[in-house]
Amino acid sequence: MRSTDDRYRSEQARHELALRLIGHEARTGTIRQLTGLSDDRIRRLYGSYFKHQPGNPVRRRRGRTPSQVASFLKTPRHRRHAATLAAAFVAGGLFDPDTRAVRGDSQLDTGLRLCLAYERYLSLHGGRAGALLTIEWAWALLGNLQSGDELALEVCDVCDAHHVRDLLSLESQQCPTCLVAPPGPTRAQRDSTSVTAPANAR
Ligand SMILES: [Zn+2]
Repeated sequence: MRSTDDRYRSEQARHELALRLIGHEARTGTIRQLTGLSDDRIRRLYGSYFKHQPGNPVRRRRGRTPSQVASFLKTPRHRRHAATLAAAFVAGGLFDPDTRAVRGDSQLDTGLRLCLAYERYLSLHGGRAGALLTIEWAWALLGNLQSGDELALEVCDVCDAHHVRDLLSLESQQCPTCLVAPPGPTRAQRDSTSVTAPANAR
């Protein structure tokens, strides 16, 4: 009985994650990878829950997940969005910047953390209307950060914010957060000038 309950809960969790990913317009291949559901099942979920809804704003995206990483970083605005996403990956326990490991007890758990991080990103950029990066770009960004071949997650010396660096670019890449705020002293300068007040100072 217990194993039947567990199976039901697992099935329910896969179903709910698939609906959440469809709502974010993830591609069928990505949903399959994260939920283990078949393409046919995903198609039927979309048909049952989204397709015939009046004013349905959710589109089904086909084809491959984007792999051209340069578009993450083509403008300062894109770099700020990539930085917010990457920071949400770290804050949500999806990505460990020290080991470059993608976290999750299972693909399902990874998928859930991806949705939470993406929803955090959306909330910080005014919802879907203000978001430059789709959930497919988020998934591709995560894969790129994990492989470490082209992109790296770094912490700015000045503002301590995360930002994504293009490892193949020869151009200087200023932290996107510092670009919109006046630069302050670097971490090393702050450390060297910080003075501890004597305990008995008045
Ligand atoms: Zn900075």
